[in-house]
Amino acid sequence: MTNHNAALIFLGPPGAGKGTQAARLARAHGFTQLSTGDILRDHVSRRTELGREVQPYLDAGQLVPDTVLIALIREYLSELAQAGSVRVIFDGFPRTRDQAAALDALLGELQLPLLLVPLLEVPDEQLVARIVERGLTSGRSDDTEGVARERQRVYREQTAPLVEHYGAQGKLRAIDGTGTMDAVYASLEAELRAADSAGAQEDPLA
Ligand code: AMP
Repeated sequence: MTNHNAALIFLGPPGAGKGTQAARLARAHGFTQLSTGDILRDHVSRRTELGREVQPYLDAGQLVPDTVLIALIREYLSELAQAGSVRVIFDGFPRTRDQAAALDALLGELQLPLLLVPLLEVPDEQLVARIVERGLTSGRSDDTEGVARERQRVYREQTAPLVEHYGAQGKLRAIDGTGTMDAVYASLEAELRAADSAGAQEDPLA
């Protein structure tokens, strides 16, 4: 697989498996995984100023304000860009229309092509059960049944509209997220290869 600048955005409800699959794809294909949930949880556990500010939102399953997330992503991306070529998988960002608009602008500024937006699909009734099971080992304060239900509601209300946003850009690919981890990963890799070779044909010098 070629090694040029590229961005992927993982979409899908909480519990769909975005983090696990994004990590594996990132390792195999030389991407940096940018998980906003992980970054925020790290701040919470280190009790930084940002961590103290965002903790109530995480605990309640609510979204942290857009301004906070957009500033965070802008900083991470400019750091990556200074270090050389940027290959990044966004995991958990964007989550609102305003975040998506800000990211569109940032990708344009950095001349970073959006390769693919995989949408991991898992039926609603499986998602809460998956999160509660994960909660047995994750230690996450938001992996409880009540907060998991709220996170699903927030996803449907604020994040699901992004399916249309990226669909209109021709980048969205729905992936069945109910199979085994290996089966889901195989579908993702197939989509990545297809997008990568389509991109290489558009720009043979890339
Ligand atoms: P996640 O690990 O992606 O499920 O995120 C856990 C929590 O972090 C979410 O429930 C939000 O409180 C917060 N969070 C993560 N990413 C974002 C984002 N892009 N916008 C707002 N809040 C976020």
